Amino acid sequence: MAKVAFIGLGNMGGPMALNLVRTGHEVAVFDLSAAACESLRQGGAAVAGSAVEAAAAVDYVVTMLPAGKHVAATYLGEDGLLAHLDSATTALDCSTIDAATARRVGEAAAARGIGFMDAPVSGGVAAAAAGTLAFMCGGSEAIFERARLILTDMGANIFHAGPAGAGQVAKGCNNMLLAIHMIGTCEALEMGVRNGLDPAVLSQIMLASSGRNWSLEVYNPYPGVMEKAPASNDYKPGFMVDLMVKDLGLALDIARHSGCDNPMGHLAQTLYSEHQAAGNGQLDFSSILRRLQRTEDRG
Ligand code: NAD
Repeated sequence: MAKVAFIGLGNMGGPMALNLVRTGHEVAVFDLSAAACESLRQGGAAVAGSAVEAAAAVDYVVTMLPAGKHVAATYLGEDGLLAHLDSATTALDCSTIDAATARRVGEAAAARGIGFMDAPVSGGVAAAAAGTLAFMCGGSEAIFERARLILTDMGANIFHAGPAGAGQVAKGCNNMLLAIHMIGTCEALEMGVRNGLDPAVLSQIMLASSGRNWSLEVYNPYPGVMEKAPASNDYKPGFMVDLMVKDLGLALDIARHSGCDNPMGHLAQTLYSEHQAAGNGQLDFSSILRRLQRTEDRG
C-alpha cells in the first residue's frame, strides 16, 4: 500500500480520496475548505495544514482542483509542490484544465526530476464514489505504469493517451463530442414529439438504428423516458451546464491552438453558453432540451 497526498476534496476529490483510504492506502489530505477536510478526517484520512505538508515523504500526490490557475499555483513557484517534492514522488493532476498548463507543469516537474502526469477523469460524481472513473493520462510510459497502481483504486478504465498534456486533449475531444451528440439527441427527440411520437418509443427506434449514442443509451434527456436520468429528476445534476461550458471552452482552446475548424463544437458552445446565461448553469447538461423547447425564440 502507498502513502498518498490528496489535494482538493470537492465533489470529485472527496469521494476519490475516500476510495484510496478504503482500499488501504495511507492518505494525507488538504483542501482550503475546513469542512471538506473534516469529512475526510472522519473517513480515515490524516488532515495536513497545507498541500506541501500533506505531500512530505509520500509516494504519490493527487490533485483535483477547479481550474488551470489553481493547478499552476499549487505546483509552481517557490511555495509550490514541485519545489518541495521528493524525486521519488509521482504527481498526478486529475483536474480538468487547459492542456497548455498541464504541459507547463509537466515540463517544470521533468526539469526537477519529478514524475508528473495529467490524468483528467470522465464519469462524474457517481463514478467517483463508485470507483469507476475513466482516467485519460498524459505522461511517460514509466510514470503511467507507476500511476496505475493507485488509479485502479479510483477508476475502472485507465488509458494512456500519450505524452504530457495528452490526457487533457483526450478529455477535450470527448466532452466536445458529448455536447454535440447530446444536443443532436435533444433535437431529434423534440422533433419526433412535436410530430406526435412518444419519446420512449422514438428512443427505442433510434437505439436500434444508426442514431444510437451514449446520451440515448444511458442518459436520455427527455423527462420520463429513463427513470434514473437527470431529465426525470428536474435535471438535477449529474453533470452541470456550468462544467460543460467550462469543458467546451477548454476543448475549443485546443482547437484554436492546433488550427482545427470545429463548427459543431463552436455551435455547441454558443447554445450551452446561452442556456447558462439564462440561469441554468446548475442544471444537468441534458437540460439543453429546454433551450430547444422554447417556442418564443422561433417566432
Ligand atoms: P469542486 O469545486 O467541488 O472542488 C474543488 C475543491 O478544490 C474545493 O473543495 C476547493 O476548496 C478546493 N481547492 C481550490 N483551490 C485549492 C487549493 N489551492 N488548495 C487546496 N484545495 C483547493 O470541484 P469538483 O466538481 O470536485 O471538480 C474538480 C475537477 O474535476 C474540476 O477540474 C472539474 O472540471 C473536474 N471534473 C468534475 C466533474 C464533475 O462532475 N463534478 C466530472 C469530471 C471532471
